This record gives sequence, C-alpha cells and structure tokens, in this order.
Amino acid sequence: MPNIILYDDGIHKNVLLEDVDAGGFAVQANQHLIIHHGEGMMLDPGGHKVYSRVLSETLSVLGRGSLRYLFLSHQDPDIVAAVNGWLMTTDATAYISALWTRFVPHFGLDHMLADRLVPIPDEGMVFEIGGDGQLFALPAHFLHSEGNFQIYDPIAKILYSGDLGASIGAGYAQVRSFESHLQFMTGFHQRYMTANSVMRAWANMVRSLDIEIIAPQHGAFFAGKEMVNQFIDWCADLRCGIDLIIPQFKLPTV
Ligand code: FE
Repeated sequence: MPNIILYDDGIHKNVLLEDVDAGGFAVQANQHLIIHHGEGMMLDPGGHKVYSRVLSETLSVLGRGSLRYLFLSHQDPDIVAAVNGWLMTTDATAYISALWTRFVPHFGLDHMLADRLVPIPDEGMVFEIGGDGQLFALPAHFLHSEGNFQIYDPIAKILYSGDLGASIGAGYAQVRSFESHLQFMTGFHQRYMTANSVMRAWANMVRSLDIEIIAPQHGAFFAGKEMVNQFIDWCADLRCGIDLIIPQFKLPTV
C-alpha cells in the first residue's frame, strides 16, 4: 500500500508510511510520521529489516523539514531494534518509557548516543513541535507493555494507540466494519493486553478526548467518531490477560 495521508492542512500533516514488508514471518508493523511546520516526529520506526526503506521514505516525506523526535511507544523489537541507526543518521532525539532506557542499549545503542535516548516519566509528557504545535504522550501502561505510551495529536485529532487496536492479517488499511474486523483483533487483545481493569481505565481517560482516528501500530486504523467509540466501548468491556490466563497455570504434561 502506498503512503496514506491521514490529515493535511498545509501546516500539519500525518502520514501512514507505505507498508514495508519485513519478510516472511515477521509481524506487519505500521510507521507513522507527524509533521508540524516542517518539524517531524516518527512513531515506532521499527527494526532492521525495514530500517533503510522507512528512513528513506521518512526523509522524502519530510523534504526540507527535519526529524526532531523518535517516539518509541514501548520496548518491543518491531519498534526499537533499529534505533541506533536512526540516531546515527538523523538529529532526532528518541523518547521511551523510563522503564526501558537501560534495556534499549542491548539492541546495540552506541554509548555516544546514550544521551539522545530520553526517558518519559510514568505520568506522560507534552512534546512541543514546529513552534506552536503540541503532541501528548498519554500513559497506556500494561497495554501491553509495563511502560507504554500513546501519542494524541489534538490538531489532527488522531490517537496513535500502539499495540492497542492492533489487528493481524486483515489485509486492509482502514476498518470498514467493526464486527467483521473483530476476528483479526480479539485473540491478540485477549492474550497481550493485561487486564480489563486497565482497559477500562484507558477507555475512561480517552473518552475525554476529541478523536477522529485511532491508529494502531499493527494492522488497520479506525476512522470516524462512531468507529472510534465502538472500539473504545469494546476495550472497556473486554476481559483479557490476567482475567483469562490463570487456569493455564498447570505443569505441562508429556
Ligand atoms: Fe509490543
């Protein structure tokens, strides 16, 4: 699929980059770019298999603009693995939960670049972008990672939800029918998301936001208030993670 423009008012632009095949059995992952007044934030840039193509596409979409931020929603390899290359080849500063800054160097982060990997505190933070723009890193801990953030963009009204809302194998970029999309989403959320109590807390937090699009890091995005609310309601009711897994704690048999 080619680049998809989720929002563009001439000053502020949100681009879902062309889907880069990571090859074989690697999980499909989305890379998003937000640009405000020529300054960019790349979200969850990905691993080595997609690095060179995502980097060149990012620089081409930025044009004469510059990349200021690398946002890493959590510590997984499909998000972080190539961060050393991104820090070497751009002037961007990378941000990740304070829980993960000392784990990321195991992906091969050069110690010279260590001060450009900045911790996000548990309560989240606000990024200034392009002079008068703001992007909000919202706490979304345990959805699924223990130190996990989502980006809310109030200009485009897009919530970048990371692994929450992920779908595997749907084969389309935008959800058209919530009911028929559930088959690609339910199993993943039941196993990867931590508990209904956390899902419900997240739903209560994001209901106060004006959201037109929810864009996850895997699979299709949800557009329009009705679809967005359907997704939030579904999350608030879903039993998952520790709500379901306890009966599986038995010694395996031959
Ligand atoms: Fe993950």
